[in-house]
Parts: sequence; C-alpha cells; structure tokens
Amino acid sequence: MENPTKRKPASVCVHGGWSPKKGEPRQLPVYQSTTFTYETSGQMADLFDLKAAGYFYTRLQNPTNDAVAEKIRELEGGSAAMLTSSGQAANLYAIINLCGSGDHFVCAFAIYGGTFNLFSVTLAKLGIEVTFVDQDAPEEELAKAFKPNTKALFGETVSNPAMKVLDIEKFSRLAHSHGVPLIVDNTFPTPINCRPLEWGADIVTHSTSKYMDGHAAAVGGAIVDGGRFDWLAPAHAPKFPGLSAPDPSYHGLVYAEAFGLGGAFITKATAQLMRDLGAIPGPQNSFLLNLGLETLHLRMERHCSNALAVARFLQSRPEVAWVHYPGLDGDTYHALAKKYMPSGSCGVLTFGLRGGREASVAFIDSLRFVSIATHVADNRSCVLHPASHTHRQLSDSQLLEAGVPADLIRFSVGIEDIEDILADLAQAF
Ligand SMILES: *Cc1c(COP(=O)(O)O)cnc(C)c1O
Repeated sequence: MENPTKRKPASVCVHGGWSPKKGEPRQLPVYQSTTFTYETSGQMADLFDLKAAGYFYTRLQNPTNDAVAEKIRELEGGSAAMLTSSGQAANLYAIINLCGSGDHFVCAFAIYGGTFNLFSVTLAKLGIEVTFVDQDAPEEELAKAFKPNTKALFGETVSNPAMKVLDIEKFSRLAHSHGVPLIVDNTFPTPINCRPLEWGADIVTHSTSKYMDGHAAAVGGAIVDGGRFDWLAPAHAPKFPGLSAPDPSYHGLVYAEAFGLGGAFITKATAQLMRDLGAIPGPQNSFLLNLGLETLHLRMERHCSNALAVARFLQSRPEVAWVHYPGLDGDTYHALAKKYMPSGSCGVLTFGLRGGREASVAFIDSLRFVSIATHVADNRSCVLHPASHTHRQLSDSQLLEAGVPADLIRFSVGIEDIEDILADLAQAF
C-alpha cells in the first residue's frame, strides 16, 4: 500500500493500522503486556515528559490498541484517534476533554439511553450542565440553547433507538457559529456508511461494541479527532484553556502548540484522562475488534439490504401500524439519509403493531429464528421490546415522551439469509 491516504474504505478495513515488514506476523499481534522496557533512565524520562513517543504502560498506550485506533482513524478520515474500554467511556472522555465543572454543552434529545443518563445525571454531579434540544428544530430555535459557558454540541448520526438522522451540516454551522466543536456519535452507520468529519463534525465517537466488532464479542469505544477545530483562534482559546493554555500536570506544556491542531485533542485525552481515569481496552479485546473491522464493509452492506427488505415486508403487512427506517421512501428522515448515507444507514429499524403493547409482546414471543436480546447491531438478528425491557419502569405517557411508544419493537436485522428472517416474521404474525 504505497499511498495510505488514498486507500478506499474496504481496503482500510482489511489493511489499516498494521503494515507488517519482512518476517513480521501477517495478523496484528496481541501485545498482552502491561509494561515496556527501556535501556536508559533518560529514554523513559522523555516519555513521561511527552518529549518522545513510545510505550511504557498499557493504561496510557499499547501497540495493539494503537494499531486498531489507527485503522478507525483512517476509516473516519481523522487526524488522530484513541480506543476506550466502552462507548460510554468514549462519550464521557470526548465531553470532559472540553468541559469542566461550571461548563455547559448542548445535546440532541434523541440519543442512546446510556448516553442520556451519563450526560443528564452523572455529568450533573460533576458540575457539567447539559441542555437537550429537538434536533429537527430550525437553527434560530436551536441557537437559543447556547450560553457563554457552552463548550460543545453533541448528536448521534442515526439515533438509537429513535432512528432519527442528524442534519450534520446544520449542527456543524450551529456549533461553529457559537465557537464550539461538534461531536458526533457515529456508532450506527459506521464510517462505511457515513463520515461525519467530511460534513463538518469536529470529533467522532463510537461504541465499537456494535457493528465495528459485529460479533457481539467485545465491548469497546473509540474517539476520532478531525484535527480542524482551531483551539488557538482568538475566539476559541479562552473557552478551551485545557488545550490552549499550559497544563500544570505536564510542566506547563500547551497541547495545541506542542501537538498541533491534529494531535492536541487526542494527546490530551490520552495523557490526562486515560492516565487519571484509566478506561483502556484490553489488547485482546482490541484484537477481536480488529477482526470485526476486517469485514465491516461486507457486513454493513448485508445489514442494510436485509433491513430494507424487512422494512418493506413489515410495511406491506396489515398487522403493522408503522415502520421507522431511514432507508424507506416515505420515512421522515429519508432525504437526510440519502444525503449523508447514500449507500444505506444501518440494520436497525423500529415498528409498532396495530394491536398495541400486547400484540407486540405476543409477536416477539412467537419469533423462533430471531432471538430476544438487549444488544443491537451484530451479526445475529434480534428484537427488543423497550416497554417490557429497557424502559419497563416508565408509564405509557412517559414512554411516549421518551419517543418509545408502548408498541415499539426494535429490530436489529442481522446478516443471515433474508428468506429465513422474512419467513420467521411471517409465521409470527
Ligand atoms: C451502545 C451505544 C453506546 C454505548 O456503548 P457501550 O459500548 O455499550 O458502552 C453509545 N452510543 C450509541 C449510539 C450506542 O448504540
């Protein structure tokens, strides 16, 4: 591979991050080691001062983890990337790398439940305030949520489980006109179907536990920096002293000066957050993630074609009241999906039955081939009824408010033969 920057995504999936030289292993090795050795005290001291790059302790960096982060960086078209132990840790680090106590950020309301809880409950305890907004509201309306202490805007490319598609360009304009970066959680489409950095996002996060791993084998997360947000610009520098002013825990080093716009965000997140909080993935999990990534491009194609076939089949059934899938012609988000994800969005869709809550429960109990599981976005088809499972503490009116009506079934369409999936649905009706 002579010019890695020109490789197509499918080639990056297979070859990214690891280029073995003469006599080296073909497959990415698992560096299952906590520590790394040096010959002189001075060599080690330079690492601790961030004067030289290298490995000394896996909590900060590990060669297996870094190779996989590099593959994801290349897939997203970013300037730097890091892995975390989960998607939750990725979103936590992305926010607290910018926000401290007394700061505020704006976030789309339709996001993953775990992220919603992290942002609204746990970050509140740390003194970080969030304002949730309706992502479909006009720009003038959304602008009202920003305050002088706002440090970021956050949204999901395709929201889990509401299946709303984010207007990334609108969110990017909004963030930049308020002098803050846009962070996009790109878990559902993956960089195979959407590359938010190309549409104006500044930072991308992932739960790699979903399609990237794809085999439901390893929980993990990733953060990718686009390297374009200028932390040192006069309008930005006072807002982001963590990147633009000296870091007392590294002898007064200024990240944006020492590592440039491309390296500052990820180096700070590694040197401070990973050092102090430690949500690093085990190298063995990163190895499994890399195996998943090698076929991501093939699997996403099948997830999307199977999901579209399921969505069309459900739409044709008299028992089905509604179907949400951005790939469907009549879907509210079809135009946005076509713009940002022309080759398909993902394999997840939601639908409701005319018989309401009871009919939905009876339906999923009748499935034989498709299993009931809390997971989404892996090889195997599965369903979940949020009103009975993840959201069972909520009343019917609270369910509606949360955008998960009592009849909603979330269907994560796998990569099996479509005829088996459709046959199972048909017999369950
Ligand atoms: C699952 C998920 C997360 C959380 O990731 P974990 O790996 O489970 O910690 C974050 N964002 C989205 C969109 C998700 O689907």
